[in-house]
Amino acid sequence: RFITLEGGEGSGKTSAIAFVKEWLEAKGVPYIVTREPGGTPLAEEIRQVVLSKRDESVSPITELLLVFAARAQHVEQKIVPALESGVWVISDRFIDSSYVYQGVARGLDIADIDRLVHLAVGDCLPDRTILLDVPVEVGMERVANRLGNDRLDAESTQFHEMVRRGFLDLAIRDRDRVSIVDASVAQKDVFEQIATVLECVN
Ligand code: C5P
Ligand code: MG
Repeated sequence: RFITLEGGEGSGKTSAIAFVKEWLEAKGVPYIVTREPGGTPLAEEIRQVVLSKRDESVSPITELLLVFAARAQHVEQKIVPALESGVWVISDRFIDSSYVYQGVARGLDIADIDRLVHLAVGDCLPDRTILLDVPVEVGMERVANRLGNDRLDAESTQFHEMVRRGFLDLAIRDRDRVSIVDASVAQKDVFEQIATVLECVN
């Protein structure tokens, strides 16, 4: 099984993934956890490039191609081999982040992203995607409170609103694959929603 987690800033992906790990361990399911951009040595180098140069002078097309260059490597070298050997793959972000960040937020053509998905991902699509949804104010406040946070926040509230809307629209369009989790509630209630989704995948 291939499961991806998606969501905007402060949506709680990191703790959600820790919970998914616990759940899989309790069930005795073999798994790997990985992330995008990144997941292999080459793809992690590309991640560094993408995240260290995130200002307006980076062409959205450059960003798009870098993210997909990393993804092609990630899919071929890590995700496909794991799935073929019967290991579950849990990825912190995947193609939906491109539809939302490079497509909706940076304004690139969705049809171009479709073509890159076809090229770089092929049929290695997630069985289930968990979208952690929080109102932008809640997410931004969580990030602001994060100790030692060094990455807040080149982007405006408007950008984050666009990201949230983008993920929700995508979840509605692709409702057979994407489960929306209300991540604004108490953590135990977030985890309960995630467990319900995982039970259905299992
Ligand atoms: O929160 P996380 O560690 O996943 O952050 C990665 C960052 O990379 C996010 O701030 C997001 O804006 C960005 N990103 C992106 N395009 C992607 C994936 C991530 O701009 N396809
Ligand atoms: Mg994070």
